[in-house]
Amino acid sequence: MPARHDLTTDPGLQEQLLQARRGTAFFARKLNELTDTELDGGSLLPGWTRRHVVAHVGYNARAIARLVEWAGTGVETPMYPSTEVRDHEINFGATLSPIALRNLFDHSAVHLSAEWRDLPGRDWANEVKTIQGRTVPATETVWMRTREVWTHAVDLDNGATFADIPEPVLERLLRDITGAWQARGTDAGLVIRVVGTNMEFGDKGGRDPVTVSGPLAGVAAWAAGRTAAAGGSGVTASRGTEVLSRVPAAPKWI
Ligand code: ZN
Repeated sequence: MPARHDLTTDPGLQEQLLQARRGTAFFARKLNELTDTELDGGSLLPGWTRRHVVAHVGYNARAIARLVEWAGTGVETPMYPSTEVRDHEINFGATLSPIALRNLFDHSAVHLSAEWRDLPGRDWANEVKTIQGRTVPATETVWMRTREVWTHAVDLDNGATFADIPEPVLERLLRDITGAWQARGTDAGLVIRVVGTNMEFGDKGGRDPVTVSGPLAGVAAWAAGRTAAAGGSGVTASRGTEVLSRVPAAPKWI
C-alpha cells in the first residue's frame, strides 16, 4: 500500500508542501471556472492563450516530478531534454481538446503530489538540476512548483490577483526576483520597498535611486512583470521627494 501521508517528517518541508498543494488547488479552481470556449481567450502572458498557460503548468508538473524521481532513484532524469523541446511541448499542448487539457493538468498534479508524498525523508537533500542549470536539493522542487501554480493562476486572467497569493509565497517570490536582479546587476539605481514592513531590496547604496514602493502583493506583481490587472495596484515610484508620474517597468526576471 502506498503511504497516505508524506514520508518526510520535517515540519518546515511539510508546510511548504501544503503551500504548493494549496496553490495547485487554487489553480484548479480558477481553471474550473473557465468554460471550454474561454480557454481560447488571452492570458496575462504576451503571446499566450489560457490554453498555453494550462499546458505549461501541466507539463511543468511532469518536469518537476522527473526531478523528484531523480532524487529518489539516483537515475538522472532532466526536467526537459532542452528548452526547445519544452517550448514545442507547450505549443502542442495548447492545441489539445479542452478535456485533454484539463486531464493533463489534473493527472500531472496528482502524479507530482504522489512523488513528493513517497520520497523518503533522507532523499530530500539529494541534488538535482533545474532547466536553468542550477544544482539544487530536491526540497527546492516544492518552491519551484509553488511559484508556478500561484503566479500562473493569476495569468489565467479570470479574476485571481497577487492579493490572493499567501504572504509567505509573495515574500519569497520577491526575494527570489530581487536576488536575481542583484546577481545580474540589473537593479542599478532602483530601490524596492514594501510599505508597512522592513522589506527593502535593490541598489540601496546607489545615488539618487528611484524607489518603487507599495503593498507586498502590488510590489511582487510589479517585480514579476505583471500589470495592475494582476494586482499591481498601489505601487508608486519616487526619486527623492518627487513622485514620478509613471512607475518604471521592472527589470526582466527570467
Ligand atoms: Zn511558468
